Amino acid sequence: MEAKFNELKTRLAEIHDLNKIGWILGWDQRTMMAPKGARVRAEQLASLGRVAHDKFTAPEIGRLLDQLQPHAESLPYDSDEASLIRVARRDWDKARRVPGELRAELSRSASLANAAWIEARKQADFQRFLPHLQKNVQLRRRYIECFDQTEDLYDVLLDDYEPGLPTAEVRRVFGELKRELLPLIAAVTRSGREIDDGCLHGHFPIDQQRAFVLSVVGRFGFQTDSWRLDPTVHPFASNSCTTDIRITTRYAEGFLSPALFGTLHETGHGLYENGVSPNLERTPLCRGASLGLHESQSRMWENLVGRSRPFWRFFFPRLKAAFPAQMAGMDAEGVYAAVNKVQPSLIRVEADEATYNLHIILRFELEQALMSGDLALAELPEAWNARMQDYLGLDVPDDGLGVLQDIHWSGGMIGYFPTYALGNIISCQIWEKAQAALPGLEAQFEQGEFVPLREWLRDNLHQHGRKFTPAETLERVAGTPRIEVGPYVRYLYAKFQDLYALPDLRQPVTA
Ligand code: ZN
Repeated sequence: MEAKFNELKTRLAEIHDLNKIGWILGWDQRTMMAPKGARVRAEQLASLGRVAHDKFTAPEIGRLLDQLQPHAESLPYDSDEASLIRVARRDWDKARRVPGELRAELSRSASLANAAWIEARKQADFQRFLPHLQKNVQLRRRYIECFDQTEDLYDVLLDDYEPGLPTAEVRRVFGELKRELLPLIAAVTRSGREIDDGCLHGHFPIDQQRAFVLSVVGRFGFQTDSWRLDPTVHPFASNSCTTDIRITTRYAEGFLSPALFGTLHETGHGLYENGVSPNLERTPLCRGASLGLHESQSRMWENLVGRSRPFWRFFFPRLKAAFPAQMAGMDAEGVYAAVNKVQPSLIRVEADEATYNLHIILRFELEQALMSGDLALAELPEAWNARMQDYLGLDVPDDGLGVLQDIHWSGGMIGYFPTYALGNIISCQIWEKAQAALPGLEAQFEQGEFVPLREWLRDNLHQHGRKFTPAETLERVAGTPRIEVGPYVRYLYAKFQDLYALPDLRQPVTA
């Protein structure tokens, strides 16, 4: 068995190496590459992906997995060996179901649609994107047919991003969230209180912004010499292994928030990968358990830490030292209020903590209607605009600021959006546990000490990587496998009732 297991492990390590080389090529493409390298780089990435896919779906891997099945069952469920066999089995079964020809067509259609989407968005011309979207949806239907029938068609798509989570469960969670959020946002709007966030706008030289965000992230407990920060257009986090984390950010000279909060966000993703157990290195277990859990970590550092009062009590004097003219007359409380201003807006990525989730719920509802056929693709813009009016009271002036704003559908990524809001919800489930386990957590933030939180997250979440299912992982860190909106709703109500001096709103009833 030992020899068989080693053979499996060696093969999986080689495939993992190829995949990680692809990640670094992708990072390079978005940070360093000369723009004219794009055409050939796409071929290089496709070749690498094909080789890795062929190696992984080879029958030999299936044979090894069959032979090792009894061995896996004889080991403790949470051992690295049993987990590797179990997870590789699930990945292999899934990867084998989709014929290479469909895979190729999905990726070809995605690159054509992406190019069309860029133009369509620029010109706010939905008609131009429509045939590509039609093709992407058609291909996704064929993709769904590769799998066993599920209760919802959407289940198969969601499973690629949030394995094992049924659509019905997301509907339940989002239904509860929407019920709690709409009255809160209405109360904020009615309060008439205008928070002045002028201090975040002005002239912030990029070198100084970079120095400031590095000084912040430097306190979050990354292992030394295991990460770097580079500028890009659409920020992301990547890595080649647990000790080579690539954070990226985007600087706006006239606005402090994008680089600061963008970096905190991507750092959260990076800390998760940095914290995976070194024993899982060069295996398919060496990454976060799901996109929702990943997003819980980025949102935690961005919002629960970075938009908290104790964080600003510590960092405001440092921000003022970096930008004395821009911060003249401000204090920690003023910056805390500014970074938490609620303002319904058209664009998801610019949304505040309270309204952000409604952008996601809107997309989740529309995606289901599209896949079930309840909504014709041609009617998508109207449906979008009607919901923006319902949920956020906004008129959408054109499709560039509406239905065309996100890249996801051009890449055929249907089922991805819910993970953003699930991440917000999960972040607070974990946060409540961390606060209970680490008394004085916020007092530590006020002293600039963030490492205890990072260590707790590593011990309770990060180290496991992808050994367990998302539900099992959530149970280990939050004490329940269920995604529950209670902690998140409590957090939002407490923060915004205080900031907007709201009359006592009905206490949220959700458990
Ligand atoms: Zn993220």
